[in-house]
Amino acid sequence: MCGIVCYVGKKKAKPILLEGLKRLEYRGYDSAGLAVQDGNHIHCFRTTGKIIELEKKINDLDICGTTGIAHTRWATHGEPSEANAHPQMDQDENIFLIHNGIIENYHTLKKRLEKSGTVFRSETDTEVLAHLIALNFDGNLDEAVRKTMAQVEGTFGLAVIHRHKPGEVVVARRGSPLIIGIGKDENFAASDVAAMVRYTNKVIHLNDNELASLSDEGITISTAQAKTVERATETVEWQPEDAELNGFPHFMLKEIFEQPETIRNAIRGRLEPGEGVPKLGGIMPVWEKLKECRHVVIVACGTSYYAGCVGRYTFEKLTEIGVEVELASEFRYRKLNFPPNTFIIAISQSGETADTLAAIREAKRKGAHLMGIVNVVGSSISRETEAGIYCHAGPEIGVASTKIFISQLTILTLLALLLGRHQKLSLTEGVEAIKALSALPDQLKRVLAQDNYIQAVAEKYYRWNNWLFLGRKYGYPIAMEGALKLKEISYIHAEGYAAGEMKHGPIALINPEMPTVAIVPKDSMHEKMLNNIHEIKSRRGPVIAIATEGDEKIKEMADDVIEIPQTLDYLYPILCVVPCQLLAYHCARFLNREIDKPRNLAKSVTVE
Ligand code: GLU
Repeated sequence: MCGIVCYVGKKKAKPILLEGLKRLEYRGYDSAGLAVQDGNHIHCFRTTGKIIELEKKINDLDICGTTGIAHTRWATHGEPSEANAHPQMDQDENIFLIHNGIIENYHTLKKRLEKSGTVFRSETDTEVLAHLIALNFDGNLDEAVRKTMAQVEGTFGLAVIHRHKPGEVVVARRGSPLIIGIGKDENFAASDVAAMVRYTNKVIHLNDNELASLSDEGITISTAQAKTVERATETVEWQPEDAELNGFPHFMLKEIFEQPETIRNAIRGRLEPGEGVPKLGGIMPVWEKLKECRHVVIVACGTSYYAGCVGRYTFEKLTEIGVEVELASEFRYRKLNFPPNTFIIAISQSGETADTLAAIREAKRKGAHLMGIVNVVGSSISRETEAGIYCHAGPEIGVASTKIFISQLTILTLLALLLGRHQKLSLTEGVEAIKALSALPDQLKRVLAQDNYIQAVAEKYYRWNNWLFLGRKYGYPIAMEGALKLKEISYIHAEGYAAGEMKHGPIALINPEMPTVAIVPKDSMHEKMLNNIHEIKSRRGPVIAIATEGDEKIKEMADDVIEIPQTLDYLYPILCVVPCQLLAYHCARFLNREIDKPRNLAKSVTVE
């Protein structure tokens, strides 16, 4: 999920690797490290924190080696610490390896290796790769990597050097990007062209299940089946700055467009299609109690709170559990009387949200069990809860959360489905849910393909100062989240309302200068939402509808219709929120706002 940089050539590797790591710094990460080969010795340094810390550590050292690998880590397994940073080594410290991605069967492999005497020195999934490559090595490094690829499941972009193979770097990929950079008497590899464009613009993209051996004389590419691959080089036209954003003008837009991949990352390795049951390793420590639980309180703030509000409906539909959702900041003022075996689920991107942390500490005092849904591995919430599920969404840079919301919704659905299958759902219902979940990434791509149209809609309305967002049931929290996105980045005033509340107040505001965004997919609330739209149109309020493809009725009523594909009612929020994100983004852009860093807002709110 984070960054890889490799160099082999005739120049000193250290400064080139450090420079490359700095180019990847924009991604956000939690620790970094590098290994440089000097004859038959490998210098290896790792730190937590920023690249500058790594630089300080090695600045005064004269490291002459001309082959090396470097990494910035975004932890998925094991907290950010020096021991868990990459490179990871085998026991004899012959192999030095860096890895992006997740080894799904690492647990089984680790147990097997430990049984035969291997001692592990980190909590990472990555370390199994180093041990396996060492065991598979009999003089040929790329052969050892190839054999290892056949043993592991999951995703990886990896790079490895061997103490007795000076001047050689082997790289491989499956599901994580890896690009080779071609120079004169030198070659590079990186997870992102940004790390190399300063040195070369000639690149070769490695495909999944391919590996390459790099030296200063050239590169050879082959498949996992040992077939040699011939591939022409491409020329990249990018400037380093462009590469960081991958051609997107803002991180927020880049992250919105990453969302099909975000869903894939959230469900990867967690679905058992035949059984219709998700697998969630992180909740195993509390599984016996959780399975019996009938009362859950979700605590969160901001966008995570709205994810929790969607989660409430999903839990109530799929399980026999009663769910309360509480703003973490209000939680402490409530006098909640928990029934025995109550679970608190804390949702937070950073895992450091001050109010959410305070809420779980309070709940613990009252005897509740604690679980977390967080994105940052090793964060305070992940440490203070008994069990949890990571989002695995990679770093989110834009202050206004987008892909993390999608990932939280996906994970809440997986959890509800898992519990539901043990409580009341049939196999058919489970299989149907998993099928629908698996279809979401491609369906989301269809929503994103309407970006130009959504931009045109935004252009029509961005000058209006007050907006209303309406939804019912699953659509209600999406209306709240849609309004929040618009407020956060465009500074337009927006209200998110439960559509049933219209008549109790907000309808007084409707006039031709107040657009309403109606969340109106074809779910059980469809007819009722049509009535609301009718009421708004009778008062000449403009309506932007987010509706299911082929809904002809809505086209006659609304001024603008953004279409989303058909799915199960409890999955509609995942598709409906994306047009809201894009509307907010384009309005903010027309208004020339600082989209990635809106005024007065911080990415993670670590103060009360
Ligand atoms: N899964 C690996 C770890 O936790 C790699 C994480 C990354 O992609 O940075 O160490």
